[in-house]
Amino acid sequence: MSRLAHLTSQGESIQEKSGTRTAADLPLPAPRAPLVARGRRQKTGSGGPLGMGRGPRGVYVHVPFCLHKCHYCDFYSIAGDGDGGRRDRRGVFVQRLIEEIRASSAFLGPPIETTFFGGGTPTLLPSGLWKILLAALSDHQPRAADHELTVEANPETVDEPLMEALVAGGVNRLSIGAQSFDPRHLKTLERRHDPARVVRSVQIARRGGIANINIDLIFGIPGQTLEQWLEDLQEVLALEPTHLSCYALSYESNTPLTAKLRAGRIKRIDQDLEARMYEVVIDRLAAAGFEHYEISSWARPGRRCRHNLRYWRNDQWWPLGPAAAGHVAGVRWKNVPHLGRYLREGPLPAITDVERLDEDGRIGEELMLRLRLIEGIECGLLQRLLAAGVRGRERGVAIMRHTDAGNLERSSDRLRLTRRGLLVADSVLADLL
Ligand code: SF4
Repeated sequence: MSRLAHLTSQGESIQEKSGTRTAADLPLPAPRAPLVARGRRQKTGSGGPLGMGRGPRGVYVHVPFCLHKCHYCDFYSIAGDGDGGRRDRRGVFVQRLIEEIRASSAFLGPPIETTFFGGGTPTLLPSGLWKILLAALSDHQPRAADHELTVEANPETVDEPLMEALVAGGVNRLSIGAQSFDPRHLKTLERRHDPARVVRSVQIARRGGIANINIDLIFGIPGQTLEQWLEDLQEVLALEPTHLSCYALSYESNTPLTAKLRAGRIKRIDQDLEARMYEVVIDRLAAAGFEHYEISSWARPGRRCRHNLRYWRNDQWWPLGPAAAGHVAGVRWKNVPHLGRYLREGPLPAITDVERLDEDGRIGEELMLRLRLIEGIECGLLQRLLAAGVRGRERGVAIMRHTDAGNLERSSDRLRLTRRGLLVADSVLADLL
């Protein structure tokens, strides 16, 4: 699933009330008048107190099922190799999700500009359920003409009927979790797909009418060499994706991979080698004509992920499904990560991890997010951010320090990470939070 939907921030927790809370209890702008269904079409009405377009125009949907649990993953999902009742739960889940879509529609846009299905493995939903789900989504969430609708896909699960249902329902972007083309490294990650399935998934998607395809890769896997990483890049470029996300392997707490690391059963790769792998991907993808637009993201011209840009620009989006995190009107929250509760309670789900940043927290977050973009932050905005908040002076000093160290630079009226800064981005950005 997308790491981005789980952006965390540092801020004041909003005092928990007793009993179950939902998004309706948050200090959000008042919802619009409900949309009136007309068959499959919707009327948007007068706009109500929220007015046209003042609600979030992005939606993240979390589908919490996986075939099995990959050893590096800490995202919320229910795994099982056999169906073990999951087939039934998928149908119940989709019905429940539609109830949530209906209940939340008054808080959104309209129109919706980006929708992102992550997980979990959204493509574990069968094509019949996708048809029902996408039709309901279209009924209750009016879409902009250039609406970007992304679905994350596990290569094991992509087939023609699925693609047909996705495309018919408006999906126009597929994000395939390849991670590696080397079976040894897939084994280390406990990814069970055959690399050939990635190739097949891309072919099926293209034949089905999806031209905009992202592929996720991971580097820095224990035992991986620079040559093997270059081979992965060669394999992925041969598939001609429009977008690539390349992440260094991270060891999240409470994952089997981290337990193996602690037990000495695997060894973290050398830091210099990992840095070299990152530099290699920057150079290789630039030579292949990709634009590097965010620390871990590359796109063909015109193919940047508009939904993910919403996260990095600190924009708003609404969460749907268990464990989905959202950000609206300066409030961040997460739907309770528990499928049983999600299915039992409603129509809006119970929420947790609610926080509303104070001004200083919002400034730190805005700096941290915008500097993830290669274009950096416009100097006028930077000055305004530094002039406000209680840590402005401290942040200004940190910026000067990192500029002197060659990690940040001013260029064309923008402050941005240098190539050297990209290699140590986590520590640079942490100093500005
Ligand atoms: S497919 Fe693997 S990495 Fe993706 S959400 Fe499921 S367990 Fe996590």
